[in-house]
Amino acid sequence: MMAETFRDKSFWLSTKEYEPNPAFRGRQELDVVVVGGGFTGLSAAHFLKQEEPGLKIALMESQVIGYGASGRNGGFSMTLFGMTLDLTTKRFSREKTKEAHHYMERAVDMLQDLIQRHRIDCDYEHPGFLRVATSGKYKDRILHEIELAGSLGLDGIEWLDPAQLSEQVASPQYMGAWWEPRCGLLNPAKLAWGWKEVIQKQGVEVYEQTPVIEICREAKGKIRITVPWGEVVTKKLVLATNAYSHLIPQLKRKQVPVWTYIVLTEPLGDRHFREIGWKNRQGIEDARDLVHYYRLTADNRLLMGGRDVSMAFGTDMEMDRNEEVFIGLERDVRSIFPALKDVSFTHRWGGPVSVPVDLAPALGYLGNKDTVYSLGCVGHGVSMTHLNGKTCADLVLGRSTDLTDVFFVNRSTIPWPPEPFRFLASRAVTEFMRWEDRKYDVQV
Ligand SMILES: Cc1cc2nc3c(=O)[nH]c(=O)nc-3n(C[C@H](O)[C@H](O)[C@H](O)COP(=O)(O)OP(=O)(O)OC[C@H]3O[C@@H](n4cnc5c(N)ncnc54)[C@H](O)[C@@H]3O)c2cc1C
Repeated sequence: MMAETFRDKSFWLSTKEYEPNPAFRGRQELDVVVVGGGFTGLSAAHFLKQEEPGLKIALMESQVIGYGASGRNGGFSMTLFGMTLDLTTKRFSREKTKEAHHYMERAVDMLQDLIQRHRIDCDYEHPGFLRVATSGKYKDRILHEIELAGSLGLDGIEWLDPAQLSEQVASPQYMGAWWEPRCGLLNPAKLAWGWKEVIQKQGVEVYEQTPVIEICREAKGKIRITVPWGEVVTKKLVLATNAYSHLIPQLKRKQVPVWTYIVLTEPLGDRHFREIGWKNRQGIEDARDLVHYYRLTADNRLLMGGRDVSMAFGTDMEMDRNEEVFIGLERDVRSIFPALKDVSFTHRWGGPVSVPVDLAPALGYLGNKDTVYSLGCVGHGVSMTHLNGKTCADLVLGRSTDLTDVFFVNRSTIPWPPEPFRFLASRAVTEFMRWEDRKYDVQV
């Protein structure tokens, strides 16, 4: 295994001592196997055990808990479903957009509640969310989204004019913002590792360094799972493999991995805060297609991610670094906040998000009702994956609930084409976003 190399995969993964569990060895019969130790898998295991304590459940993670997007993300627990309200309305419908937003509100509230209830130490704070307008075009886009939210009957979102915004956080680029108090910020690796403790106490067996290499359906309603040093036979299976799902033959065409990148500064000083404000520590995004997302960490570092993405061809998953994007992000920090021109950057990392053709999440049964999958949260899965885990648990238990009834559960997904067309198609979408961002960035 990679010894301690997982620590380099993000700043968060180096913020706490962590000892991975041993790999699975031998043979075993189980009720449920969860594949993937990110928030989706951890949450699914938690809710399954909570609902049916007698179930024999194992979670298998190919590297360490939190190795994927869950241990590398920006740590925003937010209400955004897919890309924008406007896109969701066009792709699905007004009614479904409303349903999706309510699901996401519930996800943010549930995650906050779970962290408190299980006393998971993950530096959780609840400062709210600003989507800032950095040009006239983006201001129009945000105002349209706010108007759409109002017309759908969604509350809890308002417009801050430049004067109100500058009282919160000051940048020469800002022309107003979407303000939404319902948003938490957290340390995602601490959250994932905290979940591991919670589910182990509940009696879930957690195996790390255990890649699932084959899944076969057997006679008599059983599924055989092969790992490097053993195999298990299980009645039910949860595939919580997110951006790695195209490597699993049964999920191959449902999503592609797309990499987003983050840079992190040294802790900011009082001098910096005197100039930029930001006393209320809100999570901030802009309104680009390829957004910037930024926040403060518990020790007052500025984390900024986004700007541009990378895509891989075929099964390549080695795209965790992109020097051009790192340099661009560092430049962006200084141009958004000129007062930070002298700060140093201490960390750079990246990770894969899961992207379906229509940029919207999908979960449900995979053929038979004995297998459930969940993927496609794009860059907005911290809160959603937790509620998706509960939804997956309901599906595994064969229950019909308000969660399993939402429109994106068991929805039919549009398959990505085979390579090389997959790469060309995902490239075309990204090129369009880059072109639109360039156009919007400059217009005042
Ligand atoms: C850089 C970055 C920034 C982001 N910022 C935010 C943010 O601020 N807010 C937000 O809401 N979302 C954000 N996201 C998205 C969010 O992190 C994800 O949507 C979420 O963490 C996905 O959780 P998951 O459990 O579904 O997947 P993952 O965390 O990716 O977990 C999947 C796991 O499955 C394992 N696995 C895969 N294949 C196998 C196999 N065959 N056998 C065993 N294990 C396997 C992987 O090793 C991995 O650990 C960001 C993502 C990235 C990469």
